[in-house]
Amino acid sequence: MSEKLDQLTFHDPVTRFESIEPPIQHQEEPGLDRDLKPHPDRGEESYRGTGRLQGRRALITGADSGIGAAVAIAFAREGADVALNYLPQEQADAEVIKDLIEKEGRTAVLLPGDLADHDVSRSLPDKAVEGLGGLDILVNNAGKQISVDELEKLEDQQVEETFDVNILAMFRITRAALKHLPAGSTIINSTSVQAYKPSAHLLDYASTKAAINAFTKGLAEQLAPKGIRVNAVAPGPVWTVLQVTDGQPKEKLPKFGKDTHLGRAGQPVELAPAYVFLASAESSFVVGETLNVNGGQPTP
Ligand code: NAD
Ligand code: MG
Repeated sequence: MSEKLDQLTFHDPVTRFESIEPPIQHQEEPGLDRDLKPHPDRGEESYRGTGRLQGRRALITGADSGIGAAVAIAFAREGADVALNYLPQEQADAEVIKDLIEKEGRTAVLLPGDLADHDVSRSLPDKAVEGLGGLDILVNNAGKQISVDELEKLEDQQVEETFDVNILAMFRITRAALKHLPAGSTIINSTSVQAYKPSAHLLDYASTKAAINAFTKGLAEQLAPKGIRVNAVAPGPVWTVLQVTDGQPKEKLPKFGKDTHLGRAGQPVELAPAYVFLASAESSFVVGETLNVNGGQPTP
């Protein structure tokens, strides 16, 4: 195993990353990558850019940590400027990603704000445009996942908050972004394998992810004639702080992701190439697709 191997170097996917056995741990939502054990690989030393997003301008939600952070780093290495949204409590994580983007000579705009707040969601694209001078990539990636083992214990408030952040904010942000997006722009939504293979303890979360797939495919048809492509990425188990902020039952953490065909959880950096592909012009005929990046789990 070599953690320094970049994504373009020939490697064995079974051993490229360790089959981790995370210790049982807990963080208050939304948690920090800074304190996650083991530390996730967001591509800091393992993502190599090839200029595929030169001059592009991206807004990414949930960009401070995990998959969103890996996407932000990759986009910057591919030549894009990036606006990052996250919760104010995640400032420390966001600063790390900002520094990495600026090291590439790209612009990073920090836009903290709670997406459950309708005004925050609606005003986010305007703020991104203000900071970046335009917008041609929108990555709706923020997500909330709280495990509850029985429906009787799943309260309305949690269900509503999960829908607000995961899917309703997506409607609001995307609607507000449209007036800024020129032909050639791309929208990428983070869905999940949970959309088709819901875990019994993630009823609300899985329902939002199925909704995201439907939103993505319907919107793709609506916007394609305008030259805007909409697609989704559906990760399988990826080692992120989402899992230790009650995203999984604690006792399941040491075995997290071991049931994939590769026998290990994914690292956030392994998701980045899918987002880069869908954002870049090379995916020009890919519309309304859900790209599954899940270590091998059958999907429809
Ligand atoms: P993560 O915790 O690193 O990222 C989620 C981000 O969502 C947080 O950093 C936070 O900034 C943002 N967020 C949550 N609530 C918010 C709110 N109210 N307002 C603004 N931002 C808010 O975890 P991740 O695993 O990288 O998650 C990224 C996306 O990937 C999510 O949509 C998640 O559902 C999806 N996903 C993750 C996995 C996995 O195994 N990690 C699997 C499938 C799908
Ligand atoms: Mg975070």
